Amino acid sequence: MMTTLSPEISRRQFLVAGGLTVAAAYLGPWNLFAEAGGLVEHALKESASAKITVQTLRRNIRVLLGPGGNIAVLTGPDGKLLVDAEVVTAGQNVSAALASINADPIKQLINTHWHFDHTGGNEWVHKAGASILAQENTRKHLLVDTRVEGWKYTFPAAPAGAIPSTVFKEDYTLHANGTTLVLKHYLPAHTDSDISVHFVEADVFHTGDTFWNRNYPFIDYSTGGSIDGTIRAAEANLAKVTDKMIVIPGHGAVGGKADLMLFRDVMVDLREKVAALKKHGRSLAEVVAAKPSARTDEEWGNGFMTPALFLEWVYQGV
Ligand SMILES: [Zn+2]
Repeated sequence: MMTTLSPEISRRQFLVAGGLTVAAAYLGPWNLFAEAGGLVEHALKESASAKITVQTLRRNIRVLLGPGGNIAVLTGPDGKLLVDAEVVTAGQNVSAALASINADPIKQLINTHWHFDHTGGNEWVHKAGASILAQENTRKHLLVDTRVEGWKYTFPAAPAGAIPSTVFKEDYTLHANGTTLVLKHYLPAHTDSDISVHFVEADVFHTGDTFWNRNYPFIDYSTGGSIDGTIRAAEANLAKVTDKMIVIPGHGAVGGKADLMLFRDVMVDLREKVAALKKHGRSLAEVVAAKPSARTDEEWGNGFMTPALFLEWVYQGV
C-alpha cells in the first residue's frame, strides 16, 4: 500500500517555507547532466556556488543542507563533530556555515559511506584538525581508483589526508559533547559501506543514503548497492525509528517516521511493478515508457535522480 502523499508537507513546500529555494534550485540540474553522463562533473562545478543552510534540530545538533549529502553537526566543549563532509567544491561554503554556528574547531568527522558528495570534504576537514571515522569499506574504496558505472565516472584514489584513520566493521560507539553516538553498518544497501549514526540522548538519527526524503535514490551497484538492499535498509530504519525520532536523510529535508514509511512503500511498490514488467519481457525502454512511477515522479524526480535513471537502477536489480 502506498502512503498518501498530499497531507504531508512536500519537500519543495518545505524548502520554500524554510527560505531554501536557492539550495533547491541547485539540486535540480544535476540529474539532467546525469543523462549525458556528466553528473559528477556538473555536481563538482555547481557545488562551488550552492547555498548551504543551517537548520537547528534538537539539543546541540544541527544539520547543514546543501548541494550534496546532508551534514549533521554536534557542538560542545569537545569541538565540532560532523557526520559527512559534502562535495569537495562546497568546502568554502560549508566552512562558512560552520563558522556561523560558533568558532569552535572541527575535531571529528564520521562518513556515512564513501561517495564523493559525502566524503569530498574529508581532506580539508582533516587539515582543519579532525580525525576521520568510517566503516572499513569506505576506506577500502577511497584508497583506490573506483569506477561507478551508474555515474559513468571513475573516482581517483583519495589523497592521504582524506582517508579515515579509524574504521570498524559492524558497530562502533563513541562519546562527544555529552552525547552517545551509536554507529551501525547496514547490510549492503546503497553501497557496501553504509552506516547509520544515532545521537542517542537527542534521538536524532542520520541514515546516510539509505534514505532519500521524497527523492529517488541513487543505487550504486558498482560498490555493493541494489534495490533489494535498499528496501532491506529501509525496513531496518523503520524497525529502529520511534515517533519522536528526528531523521536526517542522506538527501532531502529532515523528516521522521512517516517519511521513512513512505520511502519504503515507494521503493517496494516500484520494485514490484518493474519486476512484473521485466518478467513479461519488457525492455528497460518499455518499462520507462510505461511510467510505473508516475504517481511520485513530479515530486521525487526533481532531485539527484530522474525517474528514468531510477527505473534503470530498479530494472537492473530485479
Ligand atoms: Zn551516496
